Amino acid sequence: MAPREDYYNTLGVKRGASEDEIKKAYRRLARKYHPDVNPGDKTAEDKFKQISEAYDVLSDPKKKEIYDKFGSYSENLRDAASKGAGAGYPGGFDFNWGDFRPSGEAEAGGPSIKDIFSDLFTGGGAGARTSSQPKIQRGADIELPISLTFEDAINGTTKTISVRRNDTCARCGGNGEGTGSQVTCMTCRGNGKVSGGGGFFSFDQTCPDCKGAGKRRPPCNECAGRGTIPKTESVTIRIPAGVDTGSRVRATGKGEAGKRGGQTGDLFIITNVAPHPVFTRKGDNIECTIPVTLTEAALGAKIEVPTVSGKAQLRIPPGTQSGQRFRLREKGAPSLRSNHRGDQYVEVKITLPKIIDEDSKELLRQFAKRNPENPRAAMGLE
Ligand SMILES: [Zn+2]
Ligand SMILES: [Zn+2]
Repeated sequence: MAPREDYYNTLGVKRGASEDEIKKAYRRLARKYHPDVNPGDKTAEDKFKQISEAYDVLSDPKKKEIYDKFGSYSENLRDAASKGAGAGYPGGFDFNWGDFRPSGEAEAGGPSIKDIFSDLFTGGGAGARTSSQPKIQRGADIELPISLTFEDAINGTTKTISVRRNDTCARCGGNGEGTGSQVTCMTCRGNGKVSGGGGFFSFDQTCPDCKGAGKRRPPCNECAGRGTIPKTESVTIRIPAGVDTGSRVRATGKGEAGKRGGQTGDLFIITNVAPHPVFTRKGDNIECTIPVTLTEAALGAKIEVPTVSGKAQLRIPPGTQSGQRFRLREKGAPSLRSNHRGDQYVEVKITLPKIIDEDSKELLRQFAKRNPENPRAAMGLE
């Protein structure tokens, strides 16, 4: 399980914050952490990516809806949500930070740096260029939804799914270089430096493609210089016992390949657990409702109740009321965080017998005569 930064926390807003509050929070943080304001500051850059990612999702009503449901957002989840999540859904490519340009043309949606700064500065940054691009990039994580039965979620299972991902190119080892002799690097036009930011915050940095040399080999003809090859792979994942809807199961190194030797991202399986006809999950606890007869409730009884690990005995005391709850210790779901198991709560519901024959009716009249009571007396009613 991977704890993931909550988008609402990232922006410092409450769940249920208005569109305007989210926008204001984003703009305030973006001004503070934008790479152009903090050149060379990796922490600020990471922070900026986080807030931009959070804003990208929370500012879009459709993405936000998926995020609020699954606790995360990806295009795979969006597609799956529109089709109905299913196991083995062949995933596409995840939201990829390598393709996100914080300044210049904001491809990933949301306001560009020009928008963020427009009320601070006027003019200047019209030609804002792509800002700092790290030399080494970790590959993006991929998220795929998977449907599980209630029992599989409780007991754990193993699933094999088909994942579309970019793998490191075997021919060039991921550096994107071909085998020919060196030519002038087109990214920096041989300068070895590229300019980051624009307008007020212009600064130069080492060219990420030739690492400052100004020259590089022609691109690898297997991957066209990308360093990665798209492929569909079968991945077998062990789903631990106790997952619930929205649990994230990690398969390390099964995400997108990194760039320029960066680490490969991870694959996250987001579980969607089907409802059960008898049991309901409440965290690690399981709840169910069991019918009992009038006499069982009145006189007490030992009854059989279902649990996820087979039948169990439950003793109900004399005078049990409808709606009363009983606990079966450690008959719930295994906890993902400890060795502990949740409990099962059984709510009893008294079902009245269909009394048709005259003898039984007479017995009940006799019973009523011997036990005169008015349950509405406290309410001042007859
Ligand atoms: Zn290659
Ligand atoms: Zn270069």
